[in-house]
Parts: sequence; structure tokens; C-alpha cells
Amino acid sequence: MSKSDNLEGRQFDAIALNLVAAYDKVLGIIRGEIPLPEVVELFLTNYCNFACPYCRCGKYHGDRSQYMDFAALSNLLDELSQRGIKTLEMGGGGEPLEHPRIEEILTRLAKDGFRLGLITNGYVLTEKLALIDLLLQCADWVRFSVDATTNDVYRSVHGRPSLSYLTLKEIMVKMVQSVNAKPQMDQRPKIGMKLIVQQPNENQIHQAIDEALEIGVHYLQFKWLDDHPWSIPLERRPQLVDDLKSKVAEIPQERLTVDLLPGYGGPRMQGRCIMSVLHPLIDWDCSIYICAFFHNRKKSHSIGNIKQSQFFQCWGSEDHREHIKGVDPNQCVPNCPLLRYNPVIEFIKKEAYRFRYI
Ligand code: SF4
Ligand code: SF4
Repeated sequence: MSKSDNLEGRQFDAIALNLVAAYDKVLGIIRGEIPLPEVVELFLTNYCNFACPYCRCGKYHGDRSQYMDFAALSNLLDELSQRGIKTLEMGGGGEPLEHPRIEEILTRLAKDGFRLGLITNGYVLTEKLALIDLLLQCADWVRFSVDATTNDVYRSVHGRPSLSYLTLKEIMVKMVQSVNAKPQMDQRPKIGMKLIVQQPNENQIHQAIDEALEIGVHYLQFKWLDDHPWSIPLERRPQLVDDLKSKVAEIPQERLTVDLLPGYGGPRMQGRCIMSVLHPLIDWDCSIYICAFFHNRKKSHSIGNIKQSQFFQCWGSEDHREHIKGVDPNQCVPNCPLLRYNPVIEFIKKEAYRFRYI
């Protein structure tokens, strides 16, 4: 299960320890600076080959013609390279592997030493096997949004009657085998599976763990679906968590990491993020947004467009500062993952005077 720790009686998410890796930038942000991004997220397309009824971005999706301009992306990669920013995340938005020039993009990332975290439904790989080898060269992690362990549930939660979970499973097996076949590689990607837990797959949680072990993925994530007719009622969740915990207790820790993540629902967390400044997003139309949760406030979250100007002409500008100041936390996604850093930031602010005396 997700590891948490206890800090003076406060629970915090162990993922917040990511702040250690970016500590100088974190201190800069606390001082009110805008440092270079730690990671740049890309929504390469606005089209998805799936039609999940609960998709957060579904109502904004377009057709296959909506994808990021290759020349603008190329210029962005040049700019990021020059500043030493080599970490990218791709998600959606739409399905990133649906970009018509995805092979060229991954080839460029591999050639120029970029490192990638990819969130994908993975189905494009069933037709473009060559992408697997490219991902092996440039990805730190690839997370498959699986959401089911049988064909019937897979089709229903992804809204496409022609899909086959078993076909995707073959791809995941192939990918894990490809990773394991290259023990000499320094940076082999971790492969993960994720299930959005909802009524149609409520009875597949145990099976998902068995599948993850059989396929050999490195990690498995569960996340509650919230605020949707298929959400599992709150009163049923504690029993599911207990079942999950007892199943996880049977697995040797080194074989599989299992996390249960909160959904984007429930009571709104208090406060506002300050670490989103390390993680900007470029949408398929080349707009730069100050965070990935911009769809309900495109105007107030956009700080420019990489087709019209260079990324670093927009980054750190007065306009950028004004946009950060203008964030209205009441419009933020409830339980935004970026808020998990706040308790640690508070701790750093209070205790930094003694940090070097290790
Ligand atoms: S696969 Fe992801 S992006 Fe595509 S419809 Fe489903 S939830 Fe949305
Ligand atoms: S949704 Fe709000 S809290 Fe989350 S990253 Fe964006 S601005 Fe920050």
C-alpha cells in the first residue's frame, strides 16, 4: 500500500519526498522566485482512441486532426535542452501515442537524452510494436491505464465494444520482457498498471493484483473514481480497502508495489499549491498552462503559446507571476495531487534553520 510517514504527528504522502530532488528550486520558490521547471508535461493530442464514460477530459476531446505541431515541439525541445531540462511527462488530454509523428518524437527524445514518464492506455502499441523499443530507450516509467482485467469490463469502462484486454495484456507482457531482457541498461523503465476503481471493476481488485504479478509489472495503482454515477459509494470503500490490504500483505514487497490513491473528489483541500511552478503543461494547441488542471479556466491559466513565442520568453515573465497570483483555489480540482507537497513545505519553512546540521 502507499507508504506514508509521520512527521510531528502529521501524515504526509511519501511522494512528497520528490521535493528533496529539487531542493534548491524548492527554496527558490519559497523565496518567491520562479525557477526552471523540473518537468514539462505535454498533452501531445486532443484525440483519444477510447471513450471512457468517466474521462475527465472527454468533453474537451476533438478529432484526430488535433495534435501538437511538430515544429513547435521541436523548438521547445531545443529550448529545454539548452537549459538542461530533460524530464518530460506525457499524458492527456488525449492519448499521447495517437500523435501521428510519435515515432519521430520518441526517436528525438532518445537521441537527445530526454527522460520520459508516459501515461497511456497503451492500445496504439498493439499496432505499432516498434514504439516499445523507443520507449525502452527514453522512458523512466510507462503507466498503462488498464481499468479492468476481463474483456467485457474492459470494453464497458473504455466505451469501445471492439477492444480486447487480452490483446493489451500481451503488449504489457512484451514490454516487461523487453525491459527484463536488457539488464545492462542503466535506466530501464518501470512499467506500471493503473485501475480507476469504480462499480464495473469493483470485483476485479484482487484479480488485478494477480494480473500485475503474472505480467511482471513493477507497480500497480488504484485510484477511486469520484463524482460519477459509477463511483463506489463511500460506505462500501472501507471494506474494499481492507480486502486490498489483506491481499497486498501476501505479496513479497520486492515483487510489486501497490498504491491506493485518493480520487479527484470529496472535500476540497484547503490552501493553494506552490509547487505547480515546477510542472507546467503544454497543450496540443501549443498553449502553455501553469498546471495540468486548466480546462475549466484556460484563459486565467495560460501564459503564452510556443507557436507564437519561445517558451522562455513566457516563463518567469511578469505576466507569468500575475497568473500564478491569480489562481483561485476554489476552482482547483479537489484533492489536487500538487497539494500533497504543502505540509512538507510548511515543515521546511519552519525547520530549515537546522537542516545542515545533519
Ligand atoms: S483512455 Fe484516458 S484520455 Fe482516453 S477516454 Fe479514457 S480516460 Fe480519457
Ligand atoms: S489545480 Fe490548483 S492546486 Fe492543483 S496544480 Fe493547478 S493551481 Fe495548483
